Amino acid sequence: MKVDLISHTFNPEQLVAAAARLCYSSSSISELRDKIKQKDVSAFIEMLIKMGHESPLEHVTFTFGIEGVSRVLLAQLTRHRIASYSVQSQRYVKNEALSYVIPPEIEKLPEAKAEFVRAVEESKKAYDKLTEILKEEYKRRLGLCDEKDESKLEKMAIEDARYALPSGWCTNLICTFNARSLLNFFSHRCCNRAQWEIRDLAWKMLELSLKTAPCIFSHAGPGCLHKLCPEGRMSCKKVEEVRRRRKLILDKVGEKGIFS
Ligand SMILES: Cc1cc2nc3c(=O)[nH]c(=O)nc-3n(C[C@H](O)[C@H](O)[C@H](O)COP(=O)(O)OP(=O)(O)OC[C@H]3O[C@@H](n4cnc5c(N)ncnc54)[C@H](O)[C@@H]3O)c2cc1C
Repeated sequence: MKVDLISHTFNPEQLVAAAARLCYSSSSISELRDKIKQKDVSAFIEMLIKMGHESPLEHVTFTFGIEGVSRVLLAQLTRHRIASYSVQSQRYVKNEALSYVIPPEIEKLPEAKAEFVRAVEESKKAYDKLTEILKEEYKRRLGLCDEKDESKLEKMAIEDARYALPSGWCTNLICTFNARSLLNFFSHRCCNRAQWEIRDLAWKMLELSLKTAPCIFSHAGPGCLHKLCPEGRMSCKKVEEVRRRRKLILDKVGEKGIFS
């Protein structure tokens, strides 16, 4: 998996603080923007987050480029509705190379791994074969034959051939979250109850977000970072491990964390 923060709102924390301050001030917007100093920015954001006044966080967005993740992950990620997604199309892009995610537990066991690789390779063969069969059929039906037609036929064929590919098949996407939605995403998906692949993605996105907007994201992560685990009976009971993981990231980016 490769994850990059490819774009974000310019000066995101300054903007959040200005928006928040506007709610409680009689000054004009330009005065507010001029007046806000870095220490006010941190104090404002800390106050907003502690009191749950989260709407100013919606003014800033973070755009991530994500490559080499499975379609299992994609299905879970896109459940987060307050975000925008552009996903490489299996309808328009032919899957030429073998490209799939092997779950670590399968990777560890040689017998399981061999079975997994065999199954994926078989589906890729079926995909290639179905593409050819369908192309021939459409060619016959439509009587097309020049180079432009070839590409059209291929697109028509892969539209259905893709059904033979497994859920572990890789995809690439770009997604944009506003900071409020991103905090919600981290609270769900950095939790140990989240599935390993999306959890891995969430922690990587958290690290990138923290580097860019440390005041906004220093408290981000699962509920157990700051209080009792909200998962109750379903708790993984590994609070210390989760806190250590976040501490490692905070140390890496040189942050203390609002609630630490
Ligand atoms: C550990 C785990 C297990 C899961 N298991 C399953 C499962 O078995 N089956 C399954 O289907 N899903 C499952 N999910 C997905 C989960 O139910 C959510 O769909 C997903 O996490 C997106 O969260 P969200 O709705 O908070 O995010 P978003 O869609 O980004 O929404 C953000 C927030 O906006 C508000 N909101 C958005 N839309 C509405 C709306 N229509 N009405 C009211 N408020 C809204 C809510 O406050 C919401 O929290 C699981 C998630 C996790 C983390």
